[in-house]
Amino acid sequence: MKTILVMGGAGYIGSHTVKHLLKNGYQCVVADNLVYGHREAVPENAVFMQADLMDKESLKKVFDSFDIEAVIHFAAFAYVGESVVHPQKYYMNNVVGTLNLLEAMKEAGVMKIVFSSTCATYGEPQYTPIDEAHPQNPINPYGRSKLMIEQIFQDYAKAYGLKYIALRYFNAAGCDGEGEIGESHTPETHLIPLILKAIKGEREAIQVFGTDYPTKDGTCIRDYIHVEDLALAHRLALEKLDVFSGYLNLGTGIGSSVKEMIQAAEEVSGRTCPVRYAERRAGDPAVLFADNKKAKEILGWSPAYTDIREIIRTAWNWELHKRY
Ligand code: UDP
Repeated sequence: MKTILVMGGAGYIGSHTVKHLLKNGYQCVVADNLVYGHREAVPENAVFMQADLMDKESLKKVFDSFDIEAVIHFAAFAYVGESVVHPQKYYMNNVVGTLNLLEAMKEAGVMKIVFSSTCATYGEPQYTPIDEAHPQNPINPYGRSKLMIEQIFQDYAKAYGLKYIALRYFNAAGCDGEGEIGESHTPETHLIPLILKAIKGEREAIQVFGTDYPTKDGTCIRDYIHVEDLALAHRLALEKLDVFSGYLNLGTGIGSSVKEMIQAAEEVSGRTCPVRYAERRAGDPAVLFADNKKAKEILGWSPAYTDIREIIRTAWNWELHKRY
């Protein structure tokens, strides 16, 4: 039986996608270097292989061992701040690493890929909602590394017949509705888990980065898209690779402010969140939210979670019962 290779399948979005694929009758091989991924996040009915994008032999071994039909590629470093300080790490792992993966795919005759891209490829928005035609001027090495890969896909499609869909995520959020897997980053930098840790008393307070943005309440607005909705979009993308190659935004199309997120988390948990107002964080645009029409049209996809309370509820459940 043909198998889907999930590179980076032990990470946050990857593991939720693996769970979704298995539930929908797919066979999966999960490959991960476990630098940021969690072995516990890989279900028992998925095959696991430790592999690293920078180790071509380990990639070759994966392709030699299984009859792989397509690859979903999540494996990347994804800390924006770190990418500014250590660009080499980001260009090597994200760009060179993906070239290594493409080389192994090509040698094995596997020419289908679904890729984790990001709204960070757009940079400072010129208008919102952001559609796929919005100019791409990323403002940090992380965003640039993802844009470079998008561009490499175009050339590989022309020259070698690669079929690709790059999914540009907005803010991935929430956890598995069944509470089996969830978000666990070290260090944690994302808003929702940090709010929940402040509510639990694991952190002193949530720092709100900037209160003087030109938004309704002065705090930044983002588009929080549930990780299960992302997982679904990856499966639908896999199923569309024969008829479509290109780029799709994945967001709800709804913008929520940092203050709204804190208030929603207080409602969901029934507890108060200690808050500290702080300076703006460098590189944060005031408002980012998606025009998701193209993903809806091409994939027949629609996000199930459109209420931030429901998204936060799944994250709160994980925060209270997490396994890793
Ligand atoms: N944010 C915040 N305090 C934090 C972490 C994040 O105020 O401790 C804000 C951040 O400025 C942004 C939003 O929350 O407007 C989402 O940030 P996150 O790092 O989760 O995702 P990003 O938008 O950077 O991908």
